[in-house]
Amino acid sequence: MGRQPLFRRVNSLPQVTYFKPAGVPLTDLQEVRLSIEEAEAIRLKDTEGLEQDECAQRMRVSRPTFARILQLARQKMADALLNGKAIRIEGGNYEMAVRHFRCGNGHEWEVPFEVMINKPPELCPTCNTPDIMALWPWRPGWGRAGRGRNYRGGRNW
Ligand SMILES: [Zn+2]
Repeated sequence: MGRQPLFRRVNSLPQVTYFKPAGVPLTDLQEVRLSIEEAEAIRLKDTEGLEQDECAQRMRVSRPTFARILQLARQKMADALLNGKAIRIEGGNYEMAVRHFRCGNGHEWEVPFEVMINKPPELCPTCNTPDIMALWPWRPGWGRAGRGRNYRGGRNW
């Protein structure tokens, strides 16, 4: 209910979002645009070395869809690498993984997955009680902390 399968789940945003070949004047520079979910596909498959099945599960897409995303991502990277194009990573249809927490007083809130790994919450942000628990299993949608071109704006995460 209310799920939009269009959005691919992403656990990690790239730290660097622009790559430019050295020695190419900006005016001659062509650009390849890699979407956030394409970057995530590369990350899961090629840097984490997961099987495609697991990658697909992590991104909540079918395996053929994952394979398509990955193939496109690799094509773009190869194009950039071999033809001296810049790579810009932005946009796409994705949602950030977040975890839901609840405190003893009934407040609920979300913490982006990445933040949680680095610094798990210790207090309720509303009433400051340390009596908090992670809701498990994942609730419908992990929340949509950001998507598409607006992922930098709006939400504080
Ligand atoms: Zn609270």
